[in-house]
Order: sequence, then structure tokens, then C-alpha cells
Amino acid sequence: MDRLVIDDLELKGKRVLTRVDFNVPIADGKVGDDTRIRAALPTINKVISDGGRLILMSHLGRPKGKPDSKFSLKPVAEHLAGLLEKPVVMAADCVGDSVEKQVSKLQDGEVLLLENVRFHKEETSNEPEFAKQLADHGEVFINDAFGTAHRAHASTVGVAKILKEAAAGYLLQSEVETLTKMLESPEKPYVVILGGAKVADKLQVIRNIITKVSAILVGGGMAYTFLKARGTEIGDSLLDDNSIATAHNAMVVADNPHPEKRLDFVLPLDHTVASSPKAPDFQTSPNGGIASGAMGVDIGPKTIAAFREKILTAKSIFWNGPMGIFENENFATGTIEVAKAVAEATGNGAFSVIGGGDSVAALEKAGVKESISHVSTGGGASLEFMAGIDLPGINALSKAKKKPEVAAQ
Ligand code: AMP
Repeated sequence: MDRLVIDDLELKGKRVLTRVDFNVPIADGKVGDDTRIRAALPTINKVISDGGRLILMSHLGRPKGKPDSKFSLKPVAEHLAGLLEKPVVMAADCVGDSVEKQVSKLQDGEVLLLENVRFHKEETSNEPEFAKQLADHGEVFINDAFGTAHRAHASTVGVAKILKEAAAGYLLQSEVETLTKMLESPEKPYVVILGGAKVADKLQVIRNIITKVSAILVGGGMAYTFLKARGTEIGDSLLDDNSIATAHNAMVVADNPHPEKRLDFVLPLDHTVASSPKAPDFQTSPNGGIASGAMGVDIGPKTIAAFREKILTAKSIFWNGPMGIFENENFATGTIEVAKAVAEATGNGAFSVIGGGDSVAALEKAGVKESISHVSTGGGASLEFMAGIDLPGINALSKAKKKPEVAAQ
């Protein structure tokens, strides 16, 4: 990447202020799924083993800009100490005199975790004075929080602009490098699978990748806006009226008269339909249309088979968004079958990238998470990256130093 990375930094004896994404589930004072904490370990271990003085900061949940013990990072400090097998000192706040004292006492290789940065409303509004107080804790800055890279907050963008050296941690670096490969040099056939409810977000992705992919498979609630744009009856299914014209344009581009530029744009061929998202009764609609009084809640068996066939031809796969209202077990089949097909294709040699909490949850439900090439830690951030939007958290990092040119032999 064209930004400074952790391996470019001299860490010994330095105060290393590091933004991580420890936004993990907490129940009864204990950390639940610790994937995000583990994902930051390579960066954390590098700072410790190089003799840096590590000051970690993160957000947790949405505490509305003031302290709320429900969202304290204390359980994370305990959990991290267990993973590192060494003490992790927990600060009572992220700024202020007592925190400054704790920072100044840190020795080489020691770890301090600041309290939730979102206990201050100045975090999300990126107030310069608050950013300066955070930045004063460190001599160098590392951002390893890909999940918040699309947000311009004080702990991501504010501090990066103040400290002279602001570098990507290993996790951020690997996310950026992987997604860049999916945008710039994916091996073909390249199959992109999109689902979920928000059409507008995914239309931006479609616009940015449409000339680079072999097939786009659309499922989930967003598919109904596309079906409507094709003139299909969609009954009471989810519809984004404002996106119908853009959806129509995307399908016109996909249907390019030039055979080499044409791509498969596959919409659901059948559906699971119900009277509401929570209805106990449901049926399979035998074809693309849905009568009024019913809504599409999952892709149907013909669609699953068609998607699976396409997925198994792929050498590169990007997937974001569920194929149905998968929170309801009755409507989770499409999402789980797609997860299994992506895992199978990966086993056959495809490179697969999956982002978005729902898709990742489906991988877990299907028991195939370990079979995926790259599970992104940032749903929103990965989607914006794929849409070609500059992520402020990455943009704020220092530019990479020019490598000295190798003299000609
Ligand atoms: P997104 O954040 O855009 O990826 O949307 C995720 C949400 O889309 C999930 O909560 C799903 O329940 C929802 N969803 C998926 N399929 C449908 C559908 N057919 N109708 C309504 N909502 C859906």
C-alpha cells in the first residue's frame, strides 16, 4: 500500500498509540466472540516484542458520548491479558491527568488499554482538542482498526493527522492489500454475490466493479428493486423506489452487446415467500414473480442451484449481505447454502473474500468460516472500499517513504 506500515516504524522505547477495533460482544462482564481481539494480536505482539510502550484505544458499542459501565472495555483488558499471558493495565478514561500519569509510567513492552473513546462525544465529531489529548499519549500512531476506517473520528483520523508517523497495523494492511487485489487484479472468472437490505450501498459497489467481474449474483431484500426494474411483480417485498432507475441502468450495462464485455447478472428465479418477516407459514414461489399479499423472504431452491453453479466456476469471489431474512431460521437456507458453495469453491482453489456481519454469521452457522480465504473485519468499510470510496482512516495515515532505488547492475 502507499501508506506507512508498522514494519516501517522504529518502536523500541517509543510510546506507541494504537487504535484497534475491540468492539466485541460482552455478556455478564465477559467477552463473547473474541475474533476482533485476536485479529489485532499480530500488531500487538510486534509492538511488545520490539520493546514499544503500547497504548491501546478502541470504541465499544454506542454509549452516546458519556461514560456507561455497560460499554466499559474492562472485560476486554482481562481477556487480552489472558491471550497475551501478561498484564494489561486498564485506564479509567482515555484522556485526563490520571491517564497521562499511567502513560508516563509505562515501561518498554508494557501494555495499557484506554477506556472506551466513545465515552466522549468529541470522539465521533473529531474535535481537534480531544484528538490532541489522545495524540499526546503517543510518539507514533498505528491504526489497526479496519472496521472503523470509513469513519473520520478523533481516534482514527484526528490523531493520525497530529502525530508525525501514522502507520497501518498488520490487520489494516492485510485488509487493504486483499481488497485492492479484488478491485485491481482479481483472477477470473470473478463472481460477486450481493444481498441484504440496503440497495443504494451495494449499487455503488456494482457501479465500481461492473467492468471487472464475470458474474453478479443478487439475492436478499435488495433483489426486489432489481426485479421491479425488470418489470417483475414483487408483491409486498422490500423495495427501494429511489434506486429502481440506477438498478435498471446497471442491468443495461451488464447486458453489453459486446460479448467480451457482457457479464451474467443473475436475479432470483424463485423465492421463499411469507406474509411477513416473522410469519410461521411460508411457501416456495415457483417462478420469479410474487403475488400481492406475500413478500420474498429468502431465495428459493432453483436460485440456490443456479447461484451454486456460478459460484463453483469462480476463481475469485466477493460476497456481502445475506440472501434472505436469515435471522429467522426458516429463511436462512439460501444464505447458508451460498456460504457452503463459497467454501466449496475455495476448497477447489478460488480466492474468497467475505465482509459484513451477517455473511460472517452465516459462515459460522454453516460451519465453514475457516474455509474462506479472507473474512473481512469491516462490513461497512469493506463495502465502501469496494465502491471505490476513499476511507478517511486510511487516507489520514502518513505517505509511505520512497524505497531507495536499486542501482542498475
Ligand atoms: P444489509 O445491512 O444491507 O446487508 O442488510 C442486512 C439485512 O437484510 C438483514 O437484517 C436481513 O434480515 C435483511 N434482509 C435480507 N433479505 C431480506 C428480504 N428478502 N426482505 C427483507 N429484508 C431482508
